[in-house]
Amino acid sequence: MTTRTDATTGPDAGPAAGADRPISLTPTGGIDRAAHHRMDEAWLAAAWSHPTTRVFVVSGGQALIEETAEGSTELVMMPSFDAPFTEAHRYFLGVDPAGVRYFALQKDSLPGRMDDIARPAGLREAGVLLSERDAELMAHAVGLENWQRTHRFCSRCGERTVIAAAGHLRRCQACGAEHYPRTDPAVIMLVTDEKDRALLGRQVHWPEGRFSTLAGFVEPGESLEAAVVREVAEEAGVSVGGVDYVGSQPWPFPASLMLGFMARATSPEIRVDGDEIEEARWFSREDLKEAFTTGEVLPPSGISIASRLVERWYGEPLPRPPGR
Ligand SMILES: [Zn+2]
Repeated sequence: MTTRTDATTGPDAGPAAGADRPISLTPTGGIDRAAHHRMDEAWLAAAWSHPTTRVFVVSGGQALIEETAEGSTELVMMPSFDAPFTEAHRYFLGVDPAGVRYFALQKDSLPGRMDDIARPAGLREAGVLLSERDAELMAHAVGLENWQRTHRFCSRCGERTVIAAAGHLRRCQACGAEHYPRTDPAVIMLVTDEKDRALLGRQVHWPEGRFSTLAGFVEPGESLEAAVVREVAEEAGVSVGGVDYVGSQPWPFPASLMLGFMARATSPEIRVDGDEIEEARWFSREDLKEAFTTGEVLPPSGISIASRLVERWYGEPLPRPPGR
């Protein structure tokens, strides 16, 4: 286990944690980030003032969402001429296939409710309600906001930094150092044994009955595959051989990227560390079906990458207790 001081926002608290509503595992929401425009102030100014441009406000990891008449949920966006503009807090997020440009404005608070149905929501909730496009836009904006908020001072000389590149850079005015947004890679893996059983563990601070895949941060100088092998050994005492990449999920709480793997154990003996993981078990498909159906074991949240990994092995959507 790579322990982080803020354990509630690390990958181990992520896709499997009880009340969390994770972001959908989408390859792309169709937004071209158009990074080559970020340093072009004239282009940005023209894009900002274009009548089709859409803007939403992000504040403290939240944005306003609303349900449409058709029953879908969308980010509340406005034309730029209605937006509470401050250039210092403007993030350019990209362009959609129709040529619409999207910006987020980082503010100290969200605007007042514009109507009865708009409401503030964090990404854990909104990520599962929004379209792929809106979820991607919000994840991008929240990730930038998290980074901007915690990188106001230069890590080289300690002086103040200022925002640049439409939110994607902070520059130190004293020493000229350029600081870019960070993404912290974390591995999350479903381990299977020679009987094709799945290894699930439960963390000390999780709600009773919650079991999920193991996970942990990648360390400096370490490959993803080596991180999978190390984390499984540290947390469950299980040796792992083959490691196959499955997919990824942005997890900006505050800055992680979850990288999902399937891994094969070389021996079934379990020896949990007792520190982060208090219990780990091998589940056959029948075991899992029984445990999930009776409610003895709580499955990972439906849309998380942990759930996707377990489902990939299980072969179909995970069973849920009646009424859930
Ligand atoms: Zn500096």
